[in-house]
Amino acid sequence: MMSMFSKILIANRGEIACRVIGTCRKLGIKTVAIYSDADRLSRHVEMADEAIHIGASPVMESYLKADRIIQAALATGAVAIHPGFGFLSENPEFVEAVEAAGLVFIGPSAASMRAMGLKDAAKALMEKSGVPVVPGYHGERQDTDFLAEQADIIGYPVLIKARAGGGGKGMRKVDDPNTFATALESAKREGQSSFGDGRVLIEKFIPNPRHIEVQVFGDSHGNIIHLFERDCSLQRRHQKVIEEAPAPGISDEMRAAMTGAAVKAARTISYEGAGTIEFIVDGTALRPDGFWFMEMNTRLQVEHPVTELITGHDLVEWQIRVASGGKLPKTQEQQTIDGHAFEARIYAEDPTNGFLPETGKLETLIFPENVRIETGVRVGDEITPFYDPMIAKIITHGENRAQALSTLRLALEKTRILGCVTNVGFLAALSAHEGFLDGQVDTGLIARDMAQLIADQNPPPAHIIAASLSAFGALDPMDHDTVSAKLGAWQLWGAPSRPVTLLEGDAEIDIRITRTSNDAYDVAFGDVSHPVRLVSVKNKTSIRLDLEGHMITVEVIRQADVIVVSSRAHTHCFKIKTGETTGESTEGASNQVLAPMPGIITACPASVGASVSRGDRLIVMEAMKMEHALEAPMDGVIVEISASAGMQVEKGAVLVVLGEINE
Ligand code: ADP
Repeated sequence: MMSMFSKILIANRGEIACRVIGTCRKLGIKTVAIYSDADRLSRHVEMADEAIHIGASPVMESYLKADRIIQAALATGAVAIHPGFGFLSENPEFVEAVEAAGLVFIGPSAASMRAMGLKDAAKALMEKSGVPVVPGYHGERQDTDFLAEQADIIGYPVLIKARAGGGGKGMRKVDDPNTFATALESAKREGQSSFGDGRVLIEKFIPNPRHIEVQVFGDSHGNIIHLFERDCSLQRRHQKVIEEAPAPGISDEMRAAMTGAAVKAARTISYEGAGTIEFIVDGTALRPDGFWFMEMNTRLQVEHPVTELITGHDLVEWQIRVASGGKLPKTQEQQTIDGHAFEARIYAEDPTNGFLPETGKLETLIFPENVRIETGVRVGDEITPFYDPMIAKIITHGENRAQALSTLRLALEKTRILGCVTNVGFLAALSAHEGFLDGQVDTGLIARDMAQLIADQNPPPAHIIAASLSAFGALDPMDHDTVSAKLGAWQLWGAPSRPVTLLEGDAEIDIRITRTSNDAYDVAFGDVSHPVRLVSVKNKTSIRLDLEGHMITVEVIRQADVIVVSSRAHTHCFKIKTGETTGESTEGASNQVLAPMPGIITACPASVGASVSRGDRLIVMEAMKMEHALEAPMDGVIVEISASAGMQVEKGAVLVVLGEINE
């Protein structure tokens, strides 16, 4: 057996860097991490044996700097580079540069990546090799009229995809010919800004689509096997939210057809390492000929742990063994499916505010113990605007699907993350969704039932009451175990009654709080008065409330005028309204356009002096892989523009100022 690498550099950050370092430790391989300014104190840096600073926080100046990363490997004596996913993981020039420096790239060859790198070329190649592909146009021509004609021939609805796309970027579903040109322009622009390639392909939109992908693995001895499938149909705007393995409801015959096609696809390009063949499946009637190749991802996937839990293999270990010249540790015949697994992706994002990415400091971070957690952060770490706001992945396993899913739901309910808004409550609601429990998954499920899935996200009265008490000052000082000893608030406020306005997302809640005795209050909002007794405050943040005989415990954390309240999987973030508009508000004056989240400006078609109408698109920005159009809040004239394409902006930054039209 070939000897394995002595030292590996991990060209990534966050959760996946930690994941790879974990396996290296298990195998006795030394590790080198890389880090940007923002990541100096990150978990992956702490976990690695050594770490090299490679640049400033923006990814263009650090994690995408191929030459500096290779230099770091050479300087530390690393012999191989693991790219993780994202960043440089599917960049064939990076592979060539790594190899030219005498290092091993832990992944497929540059040639394999090139063959699969562009969706149009990959589809053409697969078509030739006899793998079923989604019907559509994936040729050279790009003029609007021609593509619109192709869309007519294919038949609506169609899907426009940036050929260099990934992560759902540059993709637009078009339902009728009237909106085709606008959608095309927007897809091209996103493709150009994200991948430097504005070219697109057009596909038939498959009805009730399910996304089912097959994990493949190849070695340098010509062996290629599959490790079964994953179902990633639970998506929001083409991005995976919860994944599972195996796919619910598929017959052995269909599995055999899909895994067979995947191995054939990998063989066509003599694939080495871990790869994934993504298929779109007609969910209206599962059948062995109802699946089509979409693309191949020539790397490890975010959702690889569900495959690990049903096969028992460590896929990162396999990657390392194969890259060091070893054979696949197991044959196809030795593969079996053990039970069922789920993965949920926890993000710092706000489901009640269009899932906009959030930033913040993780004051509390508690995960349940009996499940697998993959994370790149610890308590006290910051979710910054520079990188993907993923906080963690929860992965569960069970003897069967129902068991694994109920474990996931319980795990989400036990997860406590305070300090920034997360999607945990949304994921918990999703994991209790009846159609999902039944295995009735398709990529439209989340959008269809969004109202129901985020209904629970409105703050329950107990959260509003707890936030009100905090705003009133009833919870400080927090270092007392019981509040009976605490007398401060009474004297502090003089009058035992006070109005407070809390902002929760877009909603304003007007509250009147009256202190009725030493530990009792009356909290009135929405025409209802809630008598409440403050029973205890434990560990500074755990508040017990007695709501007319109903005893409730909630967690409350306050930072200046921001109050975060949580119980079970539900967390709400309130802001005390202070009269004047604070710099952080993203509402702004009515004549301003503010950045609703941190991101990058991708287009700024407006110019100073131009007259605009309310609703006109003034700015296009990109955040968390999505394009957001910012519109004029009123009719007026543009007085000032402080944005330009390519500029990185903070949440709340003033981008455009409008003035009245002078007749
Ligand atoms: P990306 O590389 O940006 O992730 P993919 O081609 O993998 O793009 O597609 C992402 C998702 O978009 C799929 O998982 C699926 O939900 C949806 N999708 C892609 N192609 C089709 C199609 N032809 N019909 C219906 N849905 C599709």
